[in-house]
Amino acid sequence: MYLHNIFTRTHSLCKCHFVRKISAQITERKFDNRKYQYDLLVIGGGSGGLACAKETALLGRKVAVLDYVDPSARGTTWGLGGTCVNVGCIPKKLYHQAALLGKAIKDSKSYGWNFDESKIIHDWGTLKDAILGHVRSLNWGHRVQLKQKNVDYFNAKGSFITRNEVEILHKTGKKENFSAENIVIAVGGRPKYPDIPGALEYGITSDDVFSLEKPPGKTLVVGGSYVALECAGFLTGLGFDTTVMVRSICLRGFDQQMATLIANHMANDGTKFLHGCIPLKIEKAADLLTVKWESKDKQLHEDTFNTVLFAIGREAYTKNLGLEKIGVEFHPDSRKIVGQNEQTSVPNIYAIGDVLLGKPELTPVAIKAGRLLSHRLFGGSTQEMDYENVATTVFTPLEYGCVGLSEEEAIHRFGDNQIEVYHAFYKPLEFSLPQKDASQCYIKAIVSKTNKKIVGLHFLGPSAGEVIQGYSTALRCGFTLEHLQQTVGIHPTCAEEIVKLNITKASGLDPTVTGC
Ligand code: FAD
Ligand code: NDP
Repeated sequence: MYLHNIFTRTHSLCKCHFVRKISAQITERKFDNRKYQYDLLVIGGGSGGLACAKETALLGRKVAVLDYVDPSARGTTWGLGGTCVNVGCIPKKLYHQAALLGKAIKDSKSYGWNFDESKIIHDWGTLKDAILGHVRSLNWGHRVQLKQKNVDYFNAKGSFITRNEVEILHKTGKKENFSAENIVIAVGGRPKYPDIPGALEYGITSDDVFSLEKPPGKTLVVGGSYVALECAGFLTGLGFDTTVMVRSICLRGFDQQMATLIANHMANDGTKFLHGCIPLKIEKAADLLTVKWESKDKQLHEDTFNTVLFAIGREAYTKNLGLEKIGVEFHPDSRKIVGQNEQTSVPNIYAIGDVLLGKPELTPVAIKAGRLLSHRLFGGSTQEMDYENVATTVFTPLEYGCVGLSEEEAIHRFGDNQIEVYHAFYKPLEFSLPQKDASQCYIKAIVSKTNKKIVGLHFLGPSAGEVIQGYSTALRCGFTLEHLQQTVGIHPTCAEEIVKLNITKASGLDPTVTGC
């Protein structure tokens, strides 16, 4: 058996080597008369760009990827990998985990752990250094992977000269031009600043918050969506006095019942909210920032903070790409690229990830779109990216995972009397001993009355991201209420409450789960 395994491995290694040699010969031959230096040039080495470049290299094509980070207004900069790795998902999730651990320490007392609570302190510097260390290891990992896969990587900024030529500006100031048959724009986005006095001078964004040298202290977070609520959630969890200033509603585009529950949970957890307010001005005196703002009733207010974090959305980073010159169509306000199946208005130029207009700004979306595009361009595939029913999770720090339609969107699409909502308030078993408030732990499934298909599933509670992931496959397979209700749960878990859903909103019955 052992020998057989060795033989099979050796044989397959040889076979692999042979195939690689042959394909290298074919590739070389293909490149002999090449008109362009590269089959594919990717501008932007983030989630989408790296995935597309690596996949294309695996298909035997000659690929280059350019990645360059312009420093933030505060001078923060980072390595290869884009937003997710450096200033997005990864550091965010680790800060979120730090906040959850802080809560777990407190909860542990009711589980018999005995310690002097006054001696527990959190050290921002230790956490920040550990997270940045991990991020640097990911930056390095990306560089190694590109090398192993024969992708030419340049830490340089790209801009179009013609539809097939890109100017490369190296860090040293050196310029050169590369030509490519196909070009993918994967430059992502950067956080926006409001146009008010002091914002750019004194404010920070998500580009800076994860690497602050000093703890942020008393913080004002401006914005009401993903980034704002997640940052406010972990800052509160780490013990900072945190206020969120919301202009209109929280989590626009999400199910608003869920959004309200999240805001309530955060408020119960200690995050302060200023609803219906907009900032007017920031001034600095000594080390303190004075923020002046206006409330809905036109009253003026002010308070002092150590840090003001703007999380008011992101704009596509396409300003200096030279899109106008080559005729790539983009939206005049957001500067996002208009495209159909990742194809821009110029036939050999494509766009993937956050830079693409009207698509979910999520890492797995950028990665999948990049890989599928590569296979369509170079692998003979016709498979298109499906942007519908993408699951997502907001880490606030009670997690909210969802897939499919919000209740509002389902009503809009099918009509009020064409959907049934099944729901439940439940108490995670783990909350029992510390007697934690579970009043926001809530689930709802939105069901089409016509075919009983589940069109939206929403889960607010511990580990929602882990819970909801599998349901995105189920939704894709068209699962129905019957499938859900026939599923046997895993006991004792929070996730089992989903398969136990049996009370409709319309019935008016109390949806609180009692007992097992
Ligand atoms: P990016 O990752 O932004 O990469 C673009 C790269 O191109 C960057 O490195 C940029 O510097 C570079 N570049 C720009 N212009 C040029 C140029 N001219 N030449 C060369 N290089 C250039 N998504 C999730 O799925 N889950 C999460 O939990 C999550 N959390 C997030 C938290 C925060 C705080 C933020 C801001 C985002 C979060 N996201 C999350 C979204 C996710 O990070 C993005 O959707 C994803 O990174 C988009 O990938 P991309 O390849 O389109 O662009
Ligand atoms: P969004 O565009 O989703 O939200 C912007 C927020 O800022 C809204 O609440 C908006 O309010 C508010 N706002 C806009 N302009 C102003 C202003 N001038 N003054 C005050 N408030 C203002 O941006 P985010 O940065 O939160 O998120 C960007 C994307 O990143 C998301 O769409 C998401 O896909 C991705 N992301 C994903 C995460 C995850 O998967 N967990 C986490 C974080 C980000 P209003 O509603 O009134 O317009």
